[in-house]
Amino acid sequence: MNDLQSFDARSGAAHGEPLLASTADDINAAAQAAADAFETWGSSTGAQRAALLDALAAALEADREALVALADVETALGTARLNGELDRTAFQLRRFASIATRGLPFERLDDPAVAGAPPVGHPAMVLQRVPLGPVAMFAASNFPFAFSVLGGDTASAMAAGCPVVVKAHPGHPLLSQRVFALIQNVLKAQGLPAGLIGLVQGAGVEVGVALVRHPLIAAGAFTGSTRGGAALQAEANARPRPIPFYGELGSINPVVALPAALQARGAELATTLAGSIVQGCGQFCTNPGLIVLIDGAEADAFVAQLATALAAQQPHAMLTSGMRRAFDAGVARFVEHGAQPLVQQPGSTQAPGPQLLQVSGAQFLQQSALHDEVFGPSSLVVRAASQAEVLAVLAAVGGSLTVTLWGADAESDDTRALVRGAMAIAGRVLFAGVPTGVAVTAAQQHGGPWPASTAPMTTSVGDAALNRFLRPVSLQDAPAWLLARQGRPC
Ligand code: NAP
Repeated sequence: MNDLQSFDARSGAAHGEPLLASTADDINAAAQAAADAFETWGSSTGAQRAALLDALAAALEADREALVALADVETALGTARLNGELDRTAFQLRRFASIATRGLPFERLDDPAVAGAPPVGHPAMVLQRVPLGPVAMFAASNFPFAFSVLGGDTASAMAAGCPVVVKAHPGHPLLSQRVFALIQNVLKAQGLPAGLIGLVQGAGVEVGVALVRHPLIAAGAFTGSTRGGAALQAEANARPRPIPFYGELGSINPVVALPAALQARGAELATTLAGSIVQGCGQFCTNPGLIVLIDGAEADAFVAQLATALAAQQPHAMLTSGMRRAFDAGVARFVEHGAQPLVQQPGSTQAPGPQLLQVSGAQFLQQSALHDEVFGPSSLVVRAASQAEVLAVLAAVGGSLTVTLWGADAESDDTRALVRGAMAIAGRVLFAGVPTGVAVTAAQQHGGPWPASTAPMTTSVGDAALNRFLRPVSLQDAPAWLLARQGRPC
């Protein structure tokens, strides 16, 4: 297995000593410890789950200063953003604590017996849910708190009654270890098994593959690239006993701006969009990577405004040197496939300059290479010849976390068709604002058809994230003692 190294994201220089990657024995021990912890955690009460999640949120907050400083070195995301992300992470933990307290993991459907012959008559049935078991959780690089060791996947799995073995992201190994140490302190203080939340690390695919293949792992939760997610999903499916695999993947998040919206407030929208394209150096799964316009004077003016607003932006360093190189390669690939550069700001070794490219609708439809995510501060303008071509472009994208529609305020045949086209490919459709920024709330849907997600019926953000880790079981003519547990598994 490859060794690990922490890097200073701003300079690219090694930060601290090399770290040891998890061995096959370490991975086996973590999976076994999680399976042992499942024996009791799977039947824990809502109050027990809430007490742990609340304490984990408090532990994060208590160590805020050191955590944010370390995260800033390893990711270059800046202390303002990282403090906000830590707040969001604590909020998520507390939200799932509240969900556990309110008993949502134990909700059940009572279907009393009906006398008589079937199909009308039936026995007494109760539908409840059981936790799946130990979850292999893959942390993302671009959310070192909110989609990492104590992120939404861990919070929702723990609230569901599932232990977690985290595959830490090699982009922030020291931060991952520090958060893990906090977790171990909290588990010890609460008298809970250390294996309830495990951590494995590595700087190559072997560690993650071994974890997903482990027979004691019951599900996978992944946040990362479409390529990585596809590879791990294939591993999950190729096991002798395949397991559910929830992959939240990359996305190009089309923004469709109709002429009327551009005419009314094109300059304001251009400024807002430019800010969204470079926010966090464009390293968001909800980054607006595709801007779809209907050709005409409004589109001409908007593209000019956007180019000016974007050229003035100065993105910070990228998360890793590998991502920095991949960004240049992605932009070059678009140019090779016929995209015309509109903004080509030079960058530095670690920080890229913003990029804006343009193609016609026909070109976009012909070149599937233009449908790929370029992770970083760039966006591709597609100039469609008609509304029908806009719909064809959306259909060609196929799957996205979001679609944004600006100018669909009044009902018409056209707006209905656009909304239908957007809903057909996205998990979230926005009618105002920009797709970056994902609210952690009850009605959130963060997922979408492939290639945005491997499981478009589920969400990785929001309350329903819990459902991924629970499996329905019908109890037929169950004894009174079992019903008295009110949905809490044995
Ligand atoms: P990544 O390169 O896919 O890495 C994610 C994790 O998966 C890492 O731990 C990586 O381990 C592992 N991995 C990748 N390929 C693997 C393979 N073939 N086999 C086994 N393990 C593998 O993703 P990233 O660079 O961290 O994140 C950027 C991507 O994530 C972007 O595409 C972004 O859009 C997406 N993202 C999506 C969401 C969402 O909610 N949908 C949120 C944030 C980010 P090693 O590096 O050790 O190999």
